[in-house]
Order: sequence, then C-alpha cells, then structure tokens
Amino acid sequence: MSLDYNSLLLATGFSAGCLGVTLLGSWVAARTERFLLSWACGAFCIVATVFTYSAYAEYNAHGLLIATYMFLTGGFALVYGAAYQFRAHRLPIPRVLLALLIPTVVAMPSIVMEWTAVTIILMNVFATILLLLTALEYVRNYKEAPTPVLALAVLYSLISLSFALCATVLIADGKLVIAGPPQNWAETVNLIACIAGLSSIGALSFGLNQWRLAQVHKKEATTDALTGLLNRRALFDRYNNKAIGPGTAAILFDLDMFKSINDRYGHAAGDEVLKVFARQMELHCRTTDAAARLGGEEFALVLEGVKPGTAERIAENIRTAFGGCDINVDGGTIRGTVSAGVAFGTEAGLSLDAVLNASDKALYAAKHEGRNRVSVSNYLWAV
Ligand code: GH3
Ligand code: MG
Ligand code: MG
Repeated sequence: MSLDYNSLLLATGFSAGCLGVTLLGSWVAARTERFLLSWACGAFCIVATVFTYSAYAEYNAHGLLIATYMFLTGGFALVYGAAYQFRAHRLPIPRVLLALLIPTVVAMPSIVMEWTAVTIILMNVFATILLLLTALEYVRNYKEAPTPVLALAVLYSLISLSFALCATVLIADGKLVIAGPPQNWAETVNLIACIAGLSSIGALSFGLNQWRLAQVHKKEATTDALTGLLNRRALFDRYNNKAIGPGTAAILFDLDMFKSINDRYGHAAGDEVLKVFARQMELHCRTTDAAARLGGEEFALVLEGVKPGTAERIAENIRTAFGGCDINVDGGTIRGTVSAGVAFGTEAGLSLDAVLNASDKALYAAKHEGRNRVSVSNYLWAV
C-alpha cells in the first residue's frame, strides 16, 4: 500500500478535527477545565492549517501559504498555552501572543520576498520550538502523574522532531523558492507522526484530566469544606481496622459557649471562629498528625508516636494559642476559648472510636471543671 501525500494530509485534518470536537465537548461538560477550550481552539487552527495547505498544494497561491503559516503557528501557540494552563491553571495570554508574533515578524522578509522555501522552513522551525516548549510544560508538571505526563512530553517531542526533519531536508535542498508544498520522505514522516501523535496525545490527555478530576473529587470527599481539615469520614477511614497502641493519642476539642457566639454575632462570625481554630490546630500540630473537624464545633487530633507529655503539651499549646487570637468579625473583635480531652491507646490496641470515647469523657470533665482547659483521660486505665 502506498502512502499518498494528499490522503495523509486529509487524515491529519480529520485527526485534528475529531480531537477538537471531543475537546470542545469535554469543555462544555466541565467548563471549569478551561485548558480544554484553549486546546480545542488550537486543534481547530490545525484543521484550518490542513485546509489552507491542501489548497496551497492545488492552487499554489502565495496567500494560502501565508494563511497556513499563521494557522500553524497560531495553533501550536494555543496548544502550548493549553499545556501551560493545564499545569498553572491560567492561560498565559502574553506568551501565546508572543508565540504568534515572533514567528510572524521573523517570516516577514521571506513572505514579502515570496521566498516560499524559506517561509516553509521557518514554519517547521517554529512548529519544532513550540512543540518542544509544550513538551517542557508537561515535564515541569511530571510530579502530578509521572507516567502519562512523561509519555505526553515524549509524544510532543517526537512530533517536534518530525517538523525539525522537514526543516533540515529543505535547508539541505538549499533553495529559496519552491513551487507548492515540498513532498519528500520527511514530509511523509511528519504527517504520519502527526496522525499517530494526535490520537495518542488526545487519549493520554483525556486520561490525565479524568485522573486529575478524580483526585479533586477524592479531596472534596475527604476534606471539611469550611476549614480544609480532614472530615470525620476521612479520619475514621485512616484508622479503619488499626489497633491504637499506647504511643498514639487522640485529642478531642470542643469550642466553649460557641452557640452564644453564633447567637450574638451571627453564623458567619461563628464560621470565622471555626476557621481560626482550625488554623491554630494546623499550626501547632506536627505534619504527621491527623487533624479533623468531626462536625459542628468539635475537632479531633490524632498523634502517633508521642512521648509521655507530648499530646498534653500540644493540646495545651493549641488551647492557649486559640485563646490569644483576636478574631475580626462583623460587629467587632472577639476571642474564643476551647476545652480538650486527651486519651491514649492501650497495649492491647483500641479502635479509634474507643479512644475518642475516652477523649470525650475527659472533655466532659474539662467542661464540667469550668471550660477553657485540657483534661487527660484516666478512664482507659480503669478498664
Ligand atoms: P459548650 O461550651 O458546652 O460546648 O457550649 P456550646 O455552645 O459550644 O455547645 P452547643 O452544643 O450548645 O452549641 C454548638 C453550636 O454550634 C450550635 C450550632 O448552631 C453551632 N454550629 C454547629 N455547626 C456550625 C457551623 O458549621 N457553623 C457555625 N457558625 N455554627 C455551627
Ligand atoms: Mg459540641
Ligand atoms: Mg461547644
């Protein structure tokens, strides 16, 4: 089977067109994923490139070559912009404009002189550069999901290499002017690389985006929306089926007279107090500790590998730090206090639920003794 140039060109257009439609459809379904829209626009520019280039092959009109040049550089500038947007969550508009402007200015003399071969060389050179920049964006983002991200970088680099080959073969020809698009082995390799590369890039990018969305949903499902701490479910999942030994402590915090803050300053002020407390918890616990909002104005902190006295000290630090916070709310500056109950696991091992029950009893004692204090459980030692 012989690979005829026009059919390959047509297949490239189809491949880019299908990718563009799918990207646009995905963006309509998930409008927050704006990079899909930038990428769809890039894919449609590539479709336009194929149209104008085919027309140039047929009519050999210089205007069609200029249009091809603009669509190709514009399309790849947008593809680069979309890769940047995927990593940094914003479209780098100045960079995209520059990625279009620089190739336009550089090609101006050859366009004016109608040095068609030089214009086509420049088109291939800028396609190479823009695709390499795109690959680089994925490399910079490799930590997110190393395998698909690096595979994308390799695919973009391979397509970029095929454009570099086209430029090299034309430079080796040494002509300033050629009639119509060049047709040589490098052009064929380039079109095959584009057809194969575009579909693989499309599939991988969709997979990557789905994976990212799944991570976002997972985080949402395990995070308390108001404070950003773990929620009750996430904390219990973390200690599901784990026997808690004496080296692990669970501290239960309950804000004092919180209802009166809500009643006096409003629910929004109450929310602000909850956020300030959560922040103090994060500030005073260790990175290995699990800080969670169990619900309402009740929080838990699970500390593993604690030496005697550490959990009590951390609870006390959080209590005093929170008590010293001036909290700005509508209607003035307020301060809050918190009570805490500390309990530990046992040699035999306890469930998280059992340790938190013991913490709750200690917390009850702290409330009973006048609030704004830390109480340590002696309940477990009695059982
Ligand atoms: P105590 O010192 O005995 O703990 O008294 P308290 O007022 O803190 O306890 P109580 O259980 O009577 O009140 C808890 C209040 O917390 C009641 C409820 O309206 C409020 N609350 C629960 N969840 C939220 C929330 O997400 N935001 C705000 N602002 N208030 C909440
Ligand atoms: Mg409570
Ligand atoms: Mg309370």
